[in-house]
Amino acid sequence: MLNGRTVLITGASSGIGAAAARLFAEEGAAVVLMARRADALAEVAAPLVEAGARVAVAPGDVTRPADVERAVALAVDTFGSLDAAFNNAGWGTGGTVLHELDEGVYDRVMDLNVRGVWNCLRHQIPAMLKAGTGGAIVNTSSTAGIVATGAVAPYVAAKHAVLGLTKAAAMEYGESGIRVNALVVGSTRTELMDELLQDVPELEASFTARAIQKRMAHPREVAQAAAWLCSDRSSFLTGASMPVDGGWS
Ligand code: NDP
Repeated sequence: MLNGRTVLITGASSGIGAAAARLFAEEGAAVVLMARRADALAEVAAPLVEAGARVAVAPGDVTRPADVERAVALAVDTFGSLDAAFNNAGWGTGGTVLHELDEGVYDRVMDLNVRGVWNCLRHQIPAMLKAGTGGAIVNTSSTAGIVATGAVAPYVAAKHAVLGLTKAAAMEYGESGIRVNALVVGSTRTELMDELLQDVPELEASFTARAIQKRMAHPREVAQAAAWLCSDRSSFLTGASMPVDGGWS
């Protein structure tokens, strides 16, 4: 499905991003993996390289424009193009009502989830425009991006903003053949989820109860949706918010 494509994946050192790295490589893509922890990225990359995949690692922070610019340049210099991107790095925390929130937490959540996606878009899109062959970009939002749940206000605001950026970018670059879509991800068993459940354990029951499938997603199930959106199989889809939530919404 992704044969011959070069895809940049952010947040590739764990969870959904690491699952995407494995799946995209299996599907024939050259993958550029970005996250802050170089050692964790190397662990994800090693078996892929061993299996014959084309992999480059770009340790860096998506909140820093220069790091994202370097990752995009690495894709183009190493594999000849940037055809698709999965802007997936994100983080949130819960358990504190809005008026008691620490300002540092607010800043961190907004900076990573919103500025991080914007940084990615503003460096990936020029590379795609320059190549003139279009592109596919997938941003990771959340069910929190369409419905507010309690005590996670900055995350709710940030993931709503991801959908806004997705729609705006889809509109601005549609005629250039660049498609921009978002995943509305439901509860998924990853490090982020483990961290959240440590803070607010009672959330687990409510997350699984609301999903029609009565379970959380496996990271690979989310990666499968991202792969489809990065491929030509979704060629007439742009500006969309695609739920991968087991029927939660
Ligand atoms: P993980 O914590 O497993 O993965 C998050 C990834 O983001 C890691 O690879 C982390 O790597 C990377 N990351 C964090 N901060 C930065 C940064 N500043 N720059 C670059 N990379 C960064 O969580 P998930 O896989 O669950 O999360 C992936 C996405 O899915 C996020 O956007 C999250 O909000 C979203 N999501 C997750 C849900 C869930 O239930 N798990 C539900 C809905 C949405 P490193 O620390 O090495 O930088």
